[in-house]
Amino acid sequence: MDAGGKKTAAAVLEEVTREVSQCLQTLFTGRRKTGQVDMEASEMLLRSAMHRVGAAGLTQFMQLPAPLAEQRTILCSCGHMAQYQELRSKPVLTAVGRVEVSRPYYLCAHCHNGQFPADVELDIENTEFSPGVRRMQALVGQGSPFAHGREQMKLLAGLDVTTKSVERAAEAIGANIAAAEQREIGKAVQLDLPVVLGDPIPILYVQMDGTGVPVVRKETEGRQGKTDGQPAHTREVKLGCVFTQTTWDEKGYAIRDSDSTTYTGAIETAEEFGKRILATWMKLIFGTQAMRSCLAGWQALASLSGR
Ligand SMILES: [Zn+2]
Repeated sequence: MDAGGKKTAAAVLEEVTREVSQCLQTLFTGRRKTGQVDMEASEMLLRSAMHRVGAAGLTQFMQLPAPLAEQRTILCSCGHMAQYQELRSKPVLTAVGRVEVSRPYYLCAHCHNGQFPADVELDIENTEFSPGVRRMQALVGQGSPFAHGREQMKLLAGLDVTTKSVERAAEAIGANIAAAEQREIGKAVQLDLPVVLGDPIPILYVQMDGTGVPVVRKETEGRQGKTDGQPAHTREVKLGCVFTQTTWDEKGYAIRDSDSTTYTGAIETAEEFGKRILATWMKLIFGTQAMRSCLAGWQALASLSGR
Protein backbone atom coordinates (compact mmCIF):
# COMPACT_ATOMS: atom_id res chain seq x y z
CA MET A 1 0.00 0.00 0.00
CA ASP A 2 1.07 3.59 -0.58
CA ALA A 3 1.18 6.19 2.22
CA GLY A 4 -2.49 7.09 1.71
CA GLY A 5 -3.52 3.45 1.87
CA LYS A 6 -1.54 2.86 5.05
CA LYS A 7 -3.12 5.90 6.68
CA THR A 8 -6.56 4.62 5.67
CA ALA A 9 -5.84 1.15 7.04
CA ALA A 10 -4.60 2.60 10.35
CA ALA A 11 -7.74 4.76 10.69
CA VAL A 12 -9.99 1.79 9.95
CA LEU A 13 -8.14 -0.45 12.39
CA GLU A 14 -8.68 2.14 15.10
CA GLU A 15 -12.38 2.21 14.23
CA VAL A 16 -12.59 -1.61 14.35
CA THR A 17 -10.94 -1.74 17.75
CA ARG A 18 -13.24 0.91 19.15
CA GLU A 19 -16.45 -0.57 17.70
CA VAL A 20 -15.68 -4.17 18.69
CA SER A 21 -14.65 -3.34 22.25
CA GLN A 22 -17.73 -1.16 22.68
CA CYS A 23 -19.94 -3.95 21.37
CA LEU A 24 -18.39 -6.63 23.56
CA GLN A 25 -18.68 -4.39 26.57
CA THR A 26 -22.41 -3.92 25.92
CA LEU A 27 -22.91 -7.66 25.42
CA PHE A 28 -20.95 -8.77 28.50
CA THR A 29 -22.57 -6.13 30.69
CA GLY A 30 -25.99 -7.30 29.53
CA ARG A 31 -25.21 -10.92 30.30
CA ARG A 32 -23.85 -10.09 33.74
CA LYS A 33 -26.92 -8.03 34.64
CA THR A 34 -29.62 -10.37 33.30
CA GLY A 35 -27.83 -13.71 33.42
CA GLN A 36 -29.13 -14.34 29.91
CA VAL A 37 -27.89 -14.18 26.33
CA ASP A 38 -30.06 -12.92 23.49
CA MET A 39 -28.47 -14.44 20.41
CA GLU A 40 -30.45 -12.44 17.87
CA ALA A 41 -29.88 -9.13 19.61
CA SER A 42 -26.17 -9.94 19.83
CA GLU A 43 -25.74 -10.83 16.16
CA MET A 44 -27.67 -7.75 15.05
CA LEU A 45 -25.63 -5.51 17.35
CA LEU A 46 -22.39 -6.91 15.94
CA ARG A 47 -23.57 -6.59 12.37
CA SER A 48 -24.37 -2.93 12.77
CA ALA A 49 -20.97 -2.42 14.44
CA MET A 50 -19.31 -4.09 11.43
CA HIS A 51 -21.33 -1.86 9.13
CA ARG A 52 -20.08 1.25 10.91
CA VAL A 53 -16.52 -0.02 10.59
CA GLY A 54 -17.07 -0.74 6.90
CA ALA A 55 -18.63 2.67 6.34
CA ALA A 56 -15.62 4.32 8.00
CA GLY A 57 -13.27 2.36 5.73
CA LEU A 58 -15.27 3.07 2.60
CA THR A 59 -15.55 6.77 3.46
CA GLN A 60 -11.74 6.91 3.77
CA PHE A 61 -11.38 5.16 0.44
CA MET A 62 -13.94 7.46 -1.21
CA GLN A 63 -11.98 10.64 -0.49
CA LEU A 64 -10.85 11.07 -4.06
CA PRO A 65 -7.77 13.24 -4.67
CA ALA A 66 -7.88 16.62 -6.38
CA PRO A 67 -6.92 16.38 -10.06
CA LEU A 68 -3.33 17.01 -11.12
CA ALA A 69 -2.53 20.52 -12.34
CA GLU A 70 -2.61 19.45 -16.01
CA GLN A 71 -6.03 17.72 -15.62
CA ARG A 72 -7.94 20.64 -14.15
CA THR A 73 -10.03 21.43 -17.22
CA ILE A 74 -12.55 19.08 -18.83
CA LEU A 75 -15.04 19.43 -21.65
CA CYS A 76 -18.48 20.80 -20.81
CA SER A 77 -21.57 19.62 -22.73
CA CYS A 78 -21.94 23.18 -24.10
CA GLY A 79 -18.62 22.80 -25.95
CA HIS A 80 -16.59 25.11 -23.68
CA MET A 81 -14.18 23.99 -20.99
CA ALA A 82 -15.14 23.46 -17.35
CA GLN A 83 -12.58 24.33 -14.65
CA TYR A 84 -11.85 22.31 -11.53
CA GLN A 85 -13.18 24.20 -8.48
CA GLU A 86 -12.82 22.11 -5.32
CA LEU A 87 -13.50 18.75 -3.72
CA ARG A 88 -17.16 18.37 -2.74
CA SER A 89 -18.70 15.76 -0.49
CA LYS A 90 -22.05 13.97 -0.65
CA PRO A 91 -23.63 11.21 1.43
CA VAL A 92 -24.22 7.84 -0.28
CA LEU A 93 -26.05 4.88 1.23
CA THR A 94 -23.95 1.76 0.57
CA ALA A 95 -24.13 -1.94 1.51
CA VAL A 96 -22.30 -1.05 4.74
CA GLY A 97 -24.41 2.02 5.52
CA ARG A 98 -24.02 5.74 4.95
CA VAL A 99 -20.64 6.90 3.67
CA GLU A 100 -19.33 10.26 2.47
CA VAL A 101 -17.93 10.48 -1.04
CA SER A 102 -15.65 13.44 -1.74
CA ARG A 103 -14.83 14.09 -5.38
CA PRO A 104 -13.67 16.88 -7.72
CA TYR A 105 -16.21 19.47 -8.84
CA TYR A 106 -15.88 21.29 -12.17
CA LEU A 107 -17.72 24.41 -13.24
CA CYS A 108 -18.18 25.86 -16.72
CA ALA A 109 -17.81 29.65 -16.69
CA HIS A 110 -19.68 29.89 -19.99
CA CYS A 111 -22.96 28.06 -19.20
CA HIS A 112 -22.58 27.79 -15.39
CA ASN A 113 -23.19 24.04 -15.44
CA GLY A 114 -21.35 22.08 -12.77
CA GLN A 115 -20.27 18.46 -13.11
CA PHE A 116 -18.79 15.59 -11.11
CA PRO A 117 -17.08 13.23 -13.57
CA ALA A 118 -16.27 10.80 -10.73
CA ASP A 119 -20.00 10.28 -10.08
CA VAL A 120 -20.36 8.83 -13.57
CA GLU A 121 -17.44 6.46 -13.02
CA LEU A 122 -18.72 5.40 -9.58
CA ASP A 123 -22.26 5.03 -10.94
CA ILE A 124 -23.72 7.40 -8.35
CA GLU A 125 -24.73 10.22 -10.70
CA ASN A 126 -27.88 11.99 -9.46
CA THR A 127 -28.48 9.39 -6.75
CA GLU A 128 -27.61 8.99 -3.09
CA PHE A 129 -27.72 5.19 -3.30
CA SER A 130 -24.69 3.11 -4.24
CA PRO A 131 -24.88 0.61 -7.12
CA GLY A 132 -24.88 -2.25 -4.56
CA VAL A 133 -27.82 -0.81 -2.64
CA ARG A 134 -29.76 -0.05 -5.81
CA ARG A 135 -29.33 -3.66 -6.90
CA MET A 136 -30.73 -4.84 -3.55
CA GLN A 137 -33.63 -2.40 -3.80
CA ALA A 138 -34.46 -3.59 -7.29
CA LEU A 139 -34.39 -7.20 -6.12
CA VAL A 140 -36.70 -6.69 -3.15
CA GLY A 141 -38.86 -4.31 -5.18
CA GLN A 142 -39.55 -6.80 -7.96
CA GLY A 143 -40.99 -9.56 -5.80
CA SER A 144 -43.49 -7.83 -3.55
CA PRO A 145 -45.09 -4.46 -2.78
CA PHE A 146 -42.46 -1.75 -2.33
CA ALA A 147 -43.33 -1.29 1.37
CA HIS A 148 -42.31 -4.93 1.98
CA GLY A 149 -39.08 -4.16 0.17
CA ARG A 150 -38.31 -1.49 2.73
CA GLU A 151 -38.82 -4.02 5.57
CA GLN A 152 -36.69 -6.60 3.79
CA MET A 153 -33.85 -4.12 3.34
CA LYS A 154 -33.95 -3.47 7.09
CA LEU A 155 -33.97 -7.12 8.07
CA LEU A 156 -31.68 -8.63 5.43
CA ALA A 157 -29.19 -5.84 4.88
CA GLY A 158 -29.55 -3.74 8.03
CA LEU A 159 -30.25 -0.68 5.88
CA ASP A 160 -32.88 2.01 6.39
CA VAL A 161 -34.44 3.06 3.10
CA THR A 162 -37.77 4.60 2.19
CA THR A 163 -40.53 2.81 0.29
CA LYS A 164 -40.20 5.44 -2.43
CA SER A 165 -36.50 4.72 -2.93
CA VAL A 166 -37.22 0.98 -3.37
CA GLU A 167 -39.81 1.90 -5.98
CA ARG A 168 -37.43 4.28 -7.79
CA ALA A 169 -34.57 1.76 -7.91
CA ALA A 170 -36.83 -1.06 -9.14
CA GLU A 171 -38.31 1.16 -11.82
CA ALA A 172 -34.94 2.52 -12.94
CA ILE A 173 -33.53 -0.99 -13.41
CA GLY A 174 -36.78 -2.07 -15.08
CA ALA A 175 -36.48 0.88 -17.48
CA ASN A 176 -32.88 -0.13 -18.31
CA ILE A 177 -33.97 -3.70 -19.07
CA ALA A 178 -36.87 -2.44 -21.20
CA ALA A 179 -34.52 -0.14 -23.17
CA ALA A 180 -32.07 -3.00 -23.79
CA GLU A 181 -34.95 -5.19 -25.02
CA GLN A 182 -36.13 -2.44 -27.35
CA ARG A 183 -32.63 -2.29 -28.87
CA GLU A 184 -32.73 -6.08 -29.45
CA ILE A 185 -36.18 -5.81 -31.00
CA GLY A 186 -34.99 -3.01 -33.29
CA LYS A 187 -32.07 -5.12 -34.48
CA ALA A 188 -34.24 -8.18 -35.07
CA VAL A 189 -36.85 -6.25 -37.03
CA GLN A 190 -34.20 -4.63 -39.22
CA LEU A 191 -32.46 -8.00 -39.63
CA ASP A 192 -29.29 -6.32 -38.40
CA LEU A 193 -27.99 -9.59 -37.07
CA PRO A 194 -24.70 -11.29 -36.41
CA VAL A 195 -23.76 -14.19 -38.67
CA VAL A 196 -23.38 -17.37 -36.64
CA LEU A 197 -22.63 -20.83 -37.90
CA GLY A 198 -23.85 -24.03 -36.30
CA ASP A 199 -26.18 -26.99 -36.61
CA PRO A 200 -29.66 -26.22 -37.89
CA ILE A 201 -32.54 -26.53 -35.41
CA PRO A 202 -35.05 -29.05 -36.83
CA ILE A 203 -38.02 -28.10 -34.61
CA LEU A 204 -38.60 -24.81 -32.87
CA TYR A 205 -41.71 -23.77 -30.97
CA VAL A 206 -43.07 -20.27 -30.50
CA GLN A 207 -45.93 -19.99 -28.02
CA MET A 208 -47.87 -16.97 -26.82
CA ASP A 209 -50.89 -16.12 -24.73
CA GLY A 210 -52.38 -13.20 -22.89
CA THR A 211 -54.26 -12.66 -19.66
CA GLY A 212 -55.82 -9.72 -17.82
CA VAL A 213 -53.96 -8.36 -14.80
CA PRO A 214 -55.44 -5.83 -12.34
CA VAL A 215 -53.73 -2.43 -12.58
CA VAL A 216 -53.95 0.96 -10.86
CA ARG A 217 -56.43 3.42 -12.33
CA LYS A 218 -53.94 5.64 -14.17
CA GLU A 219 -52.92 2.62 -16.32
CA THR A 220 -56.44 2.24 -17.75
CA GLU A 221 -57.23 5.92 -18.33
CA GLY A 222 -59.18 6.33 -21.55
CA ARG A 223 -59.51 2.57 -22.08
CA GLN A 224 -62.89 0.99 -22.65
CA GLY A 225 -63.78 -1.88 -20.28
CA LYS A 226 -65.57 -5.11 -21.18
CA THR A 227 -68.94 -3.70 -20.05
CA ASP A 228 -70.26 -0.74 -22.07
CA GLY A 229 -69.63 2.59 -20.37
CA GLN A 230 -67.51 0.98 -17.64
CA PRO A 231 -63.81 1.78 -17.45
CA ALA A 232 -61.33 -1.07 -17.79
CA HIS A 233 -59.86 -2.46 -14.56
CA THR A 234 -57.28 -4.71 -16.11
CA ARG A 235 -54.69 -4.63 -18.88
CA GLU A 236 -53.72 -7.60 -20.97
CA VAL A 237 -50.22 -8.86 -20.31
CA LYS A 238 -48.86 -10.90 -23.20
CA LEU A 239 -46.45 -13.72 -22.49
CA GLY A 240 -44.45 -15.75 -24.90
CA CYS A 241 -41.83 -18.43 -24.92
CA VAL A 242 -39.55 -19.93 -27.50
CA PHE A 243 -37.90 -23.33 -27.25
CA THR A 244 -36.51 -26.17 -29.32
CA GLN A 245 -37.31 -29.87 -29.35
CA THR A 246 -34.85 -32.48 -30.54
CA THR A 247 -35.96 -35.68 -28.79
CA TRP A 248 -39.05 -37.82 -28.16
CA ASP A 249 -39.92 -40.13 -25.29
CA GLU A 250 -40.57 -43.87 -25.88
CA LYS A 251 -44.28 -43.18 -26.52
CA GLY A 252 -43.39 -40.70 -29.22
CA TYR A 253 -44.25 -37.54 -27.26
CA ALA A 254 -42.06 -34.57 -27.98
CA ILE A 255 -39.62 -33.57 -25.23
CA ARG A 256 -38.86 -29.90 -24.84
CA ASP A 257 -35.16 -29.03 -24.61
CA SER A 258 -35.61 -27.43 -21.21
CA ASP A 259 -32.41 -25.39 -21.33
CA SER A 260 -33.51 -23.84 -24.61
CA THR A 261 -36.59 -22.08 -23.23
CA THR A 262 -36.58 -18.30 -23.28
CA TYR A 263 -39.51 -16.34 -21.86
CA THR A 264 -40.66 -12.84 -22.63
CA GLY A 265 -43.61 -10.70 -21.65
CA ALA A 266 -44.98 -7.18 -21.81
CA ILE A 267 -48.12 -5.08 -21.64
CA GLU A 268 -48.25 -3.78 -25.20
CA THR A 269 -50.14 -4.10 -28.49
CA ALA A 270 -50.18 -7.34 -30.48
CA GLU A 271 -48.04 -5.70 -33.17
CA GLU A 272 -45.37 -4.64 -30.69
CA PHE A 273 -45.48 -8.01 -29.01
CA GLY A 274 -45.01 -9.73 -32.37
CA LYS A 275 -41.70 -7.92 -32.76
CA ARG A 276 -40.72 -8.75 -29.19
CA ILE A 277 -41.28 -12.47 -29.64
CA LEU A 278 -39.51 -12.37 -33.00
CA ALA A 279 -36.50 -10.84 -31.25
CA THR A 280 -36.63 -13.52 -28.55
CA TRP A 281 -36.75 -16.20 -31.14
CA MET A 282 -33.85 -14.77 -33.14
CA LYS A 283 -31.77 -14.54 -30.00
CA LEU A 284 -32.30 -18.25 -29.40
CA ILE A 285 -31.45 -19.12 -33.00
CA PHE A 286 -28.35 -16.95 -33.12
CA GLY A 287 -27.04 -18.62 -30.04
CA THR A 288 -27.00 -21.92 -31.92
CA GLN A 289 -27.39 -21.83 -35.66
CA ALA A 290 -27.07 -20.14 -39.02
CA MET A 291 -28.68 -17.08 -40.53
CA ARG A 292 -30.32 -19.11 -43.32
CA SER A 293 -32.58 -21.09 -40.99
CA CYS A 294 -33.48 -17.91 -39.19
CA LEU A 295 -34.66 -16.21 -42.33
CA ALA A 296 -36.67 -19.25 -43.38
CA GLY A 297 -38.26 -19.31 -39.94
CA TRP A 298 -39.00 -15.63 -40.06
CA GLN A 299 -40.86 -16.06 -43.31
CA ALA A 300 -42.80 -18.97 -41.81
CA LEU A 301 -43.84 -16.87 -38.83
CA ALA A 302 -44.74 -13.97 -41.08
CA SER A 303 -47.05 -16.20 -43.13
CA LEU A 304 -48.60 -17.68 -39.94
CA SER A 305 -49.34 -14.27 -38.44
CA GLY A 306 -50.43 -12.78 -41.77
CA ARG A 307 -47.69 -10.11 -41.66
ZN1 LIG B 1 -20.70 24.82 -20.38
